[in-house]
Amino acid sequence: MLPYGRQSIDNSDVEAVVAALHSDWLTTGPRVAQFEADIEAVAGAPAVTVTNGSTALHTAYAAAGVKAGDEVVTTPMTFVATASTATMLGATVVFADIEDETANLDPAAVEAVAGPRTKAIAAVDYAGHPAEYDALRKISERVGAVLLGDAAHAIGSTYHGRPVGTLADLTTFSFFPTKNLTTAEGGAVASMRPELLERARTFRGVGMVRDPGRMRHQDEGGWFYEVPEFGQNYRLPDLLCALGSSQLLRLPEFKARRQALTARYDELLADVPGLRLPIQREGVDPMRHLYPIRVLDGRRREVYDRLRAAGIGVQVNYIPVYWHPAYEDLGYRRGMCPVAEAFYAEELSLPLFADLSHADQDRVVEELRKILGS
Ligand SMILES: *Cc1c(COP(=O)(O)O)cnc(C)c1O
Repeated sequence: MLPYGRQSIDNSDVEAVVAALHSDWLTTGPRVAQFEADIEAVAGAPAVTVTNGSTALHTAYAAAGVKAGDEVVTTPMTFVATASTATMLGATVVFADIEDETANLDPAAVEAVAGPRTKAIAAVDYAGHPAEYDALRKISERVGAVLLGDAAHAIGSTYHGRPVGTLADLTTFSFFPTKNLTTAEGGAVASMRPELLERARTFRGVGMVRDPGRMRHQDEGGWFYEVPEFGQNYRLPDLLCALGSSQLLRLPEFKARRQALTARYDELLADVPGLRLPIQREGVDPMRHLYPIRVLDGRRREVYDRLRAAGIGVQVNYIPVYWHPAYEDLGYRRGMCPVAEAFYAEELSLPLFADLSHADQDRVVEELRKILGS
């Protein structure tokens, strides 16, 4: 089965991991700080690494101070963790609808629901295309909320010349193998605000504080630390950070390749009937994580099944988050975000990854042509 996404691992990646294995540090060593500095160079903001993109979201919400009684406004067109990690901290998640064109959080929909109880507004850069952060920033400032960017799809993207990592107060990344670079499992939280990044760093280290300036009680000796607030062990080991630093060196190559494959899909699919192709807004230079087409005339399921039967591993991104029984049990009902539901009904992600060959891409297009008849 041709996958919709997969990692690209070369000898330089293998050698980086082997070197880490032979070193003194398998975890909590120098390769962690190195990878964090390498992320900063791409994202434009200092970063803290964590174990995956979901724990990055948990860490970011914790750093933002999200707790019971707070509201978090987010999009339903995302992986469940964007919302569920806030719910698990006790917050009430308020789903705002998306823009039809980009499938990103619609600032007008956010404006309609944001208020004094809104602790955080969490956007997702769907498919790698940055959300409308300038408009979202105005709302977050008006209501005094933290602006969060789930950039699991978007490391390497820029928005009006500014890198993803500098657009929100807190930005999260995922390094799962289907994403734009991989550490197997891995993630990061970036922030331009030192106090938020410090809270994120403390949270991912089980809440342990060793800085005497942050301790309540007198230092008892070299072993002493305190836990002023609870945290988790979300540390990413040196082995995986070594892979991450090596992969980041290849990120410009991955970005160019993903953009070229996207342009090639745009061209090859332009005259296939019954499809809507993804767009790119002025001022955006996206890392193309997904190639999300819309299959019109109620044929998405048929096209999905027939492509799968032909060995082409298409995917649907995403089931609206509040459709999941865990949210249904909290009282959320279908129909809440009609634009997102209409998008979901038509969406299909075609194979897109750095090592996708033109021959495989041609086969995807040919199978689609066969099914849709042109
Ligand atoms: C992949 C993804 C996550 C979660 O990342 P993991 O590393 O798989 O935990 C969160 N949000 C979005 C939008 C994602 O695509």
